[in-house]
Amino acid sequence: MEKILIIEDEESILMALADDLALEGYEVASARDGLQGLSMAKEKGHDLIILDIMLPKMDGFEVCKQLRQAGVGTPILMLTAKSQEIDKVLGLELGADDYVTKPFSPRELIARVKAILRRVKGIQEQMDVYRFGDVEIDFKKYEVKKKGQPVYLTTLEFSLIGFLIKHKDQVLDRSAILDGVWGEDVYVLPKTVDTHIGHLRKKIEDDPANPKHIIGVRGIGYKFIS
Ligand code: CA
Repeated sequence: MEKILIIEDEESILMALADDLALEGYEVASARDGLQGLSMAKEKGHDLIILDIMLPKMDGFEVCKQLRQAGVGTPILMLTAKSQEIDKVLGLELGADDYVTKPFSPRELIARVKAILRRVKGIQEQMDVYRFGDVEIDFKKYEVKKKGQPVYLTTLEFSLIGFLIKHKDQVLDRSAILDGVWGEDVYVLPKTVDTHIGHLRKKIEDDPANPKHIIGVRGIGYKFIS
C-alpha cells in the first residue's frame, strides 16, 4: 500500500483529502504545521507528500527546501492558493514535482497523485544505471551524479530524461514527449516540455546554453545523444 503524507493546517481540506485518498486505497498520515510535517517527512517511508504552502511554524516552501537539502527525494505535490505562489513554485525550482491550485476537485487531485506515483514506478522499472559524459543516473536508487556530485532531479525530470534516453538519437516532438512522460490523460501545454527541458539542462549539461546531450530540434522538439 502506498503511503501519503498530507501537510495541511486547514482541517476541512485535510479531512476531505485524507478521506478521498483512503478511499482510493492509500495509507494516509497527516501533519498540521510545517515543523511537524518536516520531521515526519524526514522519516522515510512515504511515497508522496502533499504539501500546503501557507502553514503555521514553517511554510511549505521552506519545508520543501529543507527536505531536498536533507536529501529526501520523496515526490512532493504542492497546494497553492495564489498565483504568486504558483510563480514561486515554478520559478524557484524548489524540487516540488507538481502543484494543484486551491480550490481543487478531489478528482483532479487524485489524478495528479496517481500520475506522480505512476511516474515513479515507471522510473524504477526502467534501466538500472545509465552513464553519459560525466553524468551517472541510477534509476533504481533514484540517484543522479554529475562529476561524482549528487544532483537532485524531480520525478518528472527523472521520467523525462529516462524517456529521452530510451529514445536516444531519435527526434521526439513535444506531443510524443507529453504523452510518454506526463501521460495521455493529463492536460498540459506543450511549452511545459520546454520549461522542464530547461531545468534538466541546468542540472546535467556543462553549459546549458550549448547543450551536448539534450539537443533542441527547431520547430519539432528534442533528441538525446549520449
Ligand atoms: Ca494553509
